[in-house]
Amino acid sequence: MTDWAAFAASLGGIPCETDPALVKQRSRDFYWYSPVLKQQLRHVTADMVVAPRDEAEVIEVIRRCYAERIAVTARGGGTGNYGQAMPLHGGVVLDLMQLNSIGELRNGMLRVGAGAKLGEIEARCKPLGWELRMFPSTRRTASIGGFVAGGFRRRRFDQLRHVA
Ligand SMILES: Cc1cc2nc3c(=O)[nH]c(=O)nc-3n(C[C@H](O)[C@H](O)[C@H](O)COP(=O)(O)OP(=O)(O)OC[C@H]3O[C@@H](n4cnc5c(N)ncnc54)[C@H](O)[C@@H]3O)c2cc1C
Repeated sequence: MTDWAAFAASLGGIPCETDPALVKQRSRDFYWYSPVLKQQLRHVTADMVVAPRDEAEVIEVIRRCYAERIAVTARGGGTGNYGQAMPLHGGVVLDLMQLNSIGELRNGMLRVGAGAKLGEIEARCKPLGWELRMFPSTRRTASIGGFVAGGFRRRRFDQLRHVA
């Protein structure tokens, strides 16, 4: 059985949350929109939340979880409707919202961190004459990582379009 306090301490300063109430809160998305999932998933909770600040920290958390056979569930804004961001096997919720860098727009191309919010990406691009081609109504909370991983599909990811 994992000693979660020891595991958190061993992550060497990578932000962690082990308070059960907060962990439970971060173990939920909008699954309860479905009466079926509301029944099935209401007891689901992680053991801890880890919020890496950069790619190196993501790699370190995944490496440690793999070594100790700890389940990992990625989480963006937690606005998905189907329980996709919920830790069905406990373990770690990997909160990726701190990876929120937004680079410089060049020729309609933008490099962003997985945790960048869609609304913030658009706010950065709009004054330069570009806008998001598609987005969910949750764009002020939802991340680009959750949008891509949660079901959005295009053959090419040409998400920005020129409007000026
Ligand atoms: C009121 C409401 C309105 C909505 N309206 C729309 C709509 O108009 N259109 C629409 O398409 N959707 C809509 N949604 C669904 C949801 O908001 C979108 O799917 C949104 O893009 C999810 O983004 P998120 O950051 O919250 O992802 P999360 O819910 O956090 O995660 C979604 C999935 O992606 C995975 N994931 C998250 N981040 C990463 C990452 N960095 N790397 C790998 N995997 C990752 C998670 O494990 C999970 O499987 C709505 C939801 C609500 C509650």
